Amino acid sequence: MPLAFVQPASAADVSAAVRCSVEAGLRFVARNGGHNYEANSLVGGGVVIDLINLQELKIDSKANSMTVGAGYRLGSLYSKLTLLGYVLPGSTCVGVGISGLTLGGGIGHATRALGVLADSVLAATVVLANGTVVEADSKSHADLFWAIRGGGGLYGIVTSWKFKLFKAPKQVSVVRYRFRENCTEAKYAAVLGAFNAWQPWTLPKEVALAEVQCGYDSLQVQFWYWGPMSEANKTMASSPVFKLPNSYPFIHKEYSWADFVAQRMTNLHDEMDWGNGNLLLSDMLQRLYKERSSFVAASLVPLTPLNSSAVKIIAKFMVQAQKHAFIQSRAWGGQVTAVADDFNAFPWRQAPFECQVYSNSGDARKDRSWVDGLLAAVHPLIGKAEYLNYFHCVNDPWQAYFGPHAARLQAIKKAYDPQGRIGGLYCQQDNIIDE
Ligand SMILES: Cc1cc2nc3c(=O)[nH]c(=O)nc-3n(C[C@H](O)[C@H](O)[C@H](O)COP(=O)(O)OP(=O)(O)OC[C@H]3O[C@@H](n4cnc5c(N)ncnc54)[C@H](O)[C@@H]3O)c2cc1C
Repeated sequence: MPLAFVQPASAADVSAAVRCSVEAGLRFVARNGGHNYEANSLVGGGVVIDLINLQELKIDSKANSMTVGAGYRLGSLYSKLTLLGYVLPGSTCVGVGISGLTLGGGIGHATRALGVLADSVLAATVVLANGTVVEADSKSHADLFWAIRGGGGLYGIVTSWKFKLFKAPKQVSVVRYRFRENCTEAKYAAVLGAFNAWQPWTLPKEVALAEVQCGYDSLQVQFWYWGPMSEANKTMASSPVFKLPNSYPFIHKEYSWADFVAQRMTNLHDEMDWGNGNLLLSDMLQRLYKERSSFVAASLVPLTPLNSSAVKIIAKFMVQAQKHAFIQSRAWGGQVTAVADDFNAFPWRQAPFECQVYSNSGDARKDRSWVDGLLAAVHPLIGKAEYLNYFHCVNDPWQAYFGPHAARLQAIKKAYDPQGRIGGLYCQQDNIIDE
């Protein structure tokens, strides 16, 4: 339980809150969208600096860039940018905060086409642990600038971001196939095996997203192609996944960019949920967030494609899953690998894909034991790398989340926050479960 929440309205206010916390000897942490999987935007006995009032937005259409307050969430940004014909390579979920997402990398609907969200950052305003306000970019506070693009929110509090913007594609072709069988062990192994053989991470960047999702009672594979369906069909024809028996097209449709954003980015899976695509963003959010839910999740980031033993283990765990569990593999590659490995702090550029493991049965202990059991079983085969934005409790978080960048990030943390007052890579799950 935090001691205090503050809601500053400017970088100067954030600085005052930081100085006040330091004087009182308290730890402090920033909160943007509040989506961290282990509630790391809360700090027991400390101060939560909630950025909800930092809502400045300036779009420079000549320079194709924008400056955005660190309190924004993706949904309100997407709706504004879409009207102007721009795309930001953010998450597929509209409730996520722009800051938390960028600080951890940021993957989603445009990752293979445009890279992780952190790759689009041009500059940031940051309040340091002593309250000083600085501008960080490739020339000024270059180490800090490197760290806040994928290395987490541990080095200062970002109050605004400057991003490069990209012109949206004319159309997006969505191909989503489902399998008639539920997610049985054999079927999941076959689909994930075919996904590996297809190697979607080596496809052109027009395949902006490609994924397999195995749920408790459904199994599907999809990709989003930036171009006409005639082109997407060629990609589909080259994939062994779509040749597997007993699949059927659940969605096979070309969208304008605006319709795509409205319909596909909110994780509502059925077309009928959409009221024929005429819903306002506020209605969508209401439908999405009508209930609270709790879950346990983690990620696998294999540095090479999975071998058949790893596929078998994952498939075996899937059939032991609780209700409302899923495993989702999303291909990386494309623009993610097109920049140097140390372009910024995002550490796992060479991974072919990331795999999210999620359980939401209503029994947190069972969820946790399933997620941790699966990870422990496959780690010896694929290593222990994880994706920071799917944060979960691990023994050596610096190594698991930052691997080759861990030592450099720890040195930057020491230089910018020597007292360790800002946030942390801590694990609050046990307390929450016990409560
Ligand atoms: C429903 C759901 C869907 C998701 N979908 C995706 C997805 O498609 N792609 C993806 O990559 N991730 C996704 N995520 C994960 C998400 O990116 C991370 O949880 C992210 O950290 C959330 O950011 P936030 O601002 O909403 O959360 P918060 O909990 O507010 O912040 C996350 C962390 O960043 C720190 N922080 C926040 N703002 C600042 C700041 N301005 N300065 C310094 N530190 C700060 C916080 O202290 C905290 O440690 C999803 C999460 C959920 C719950």
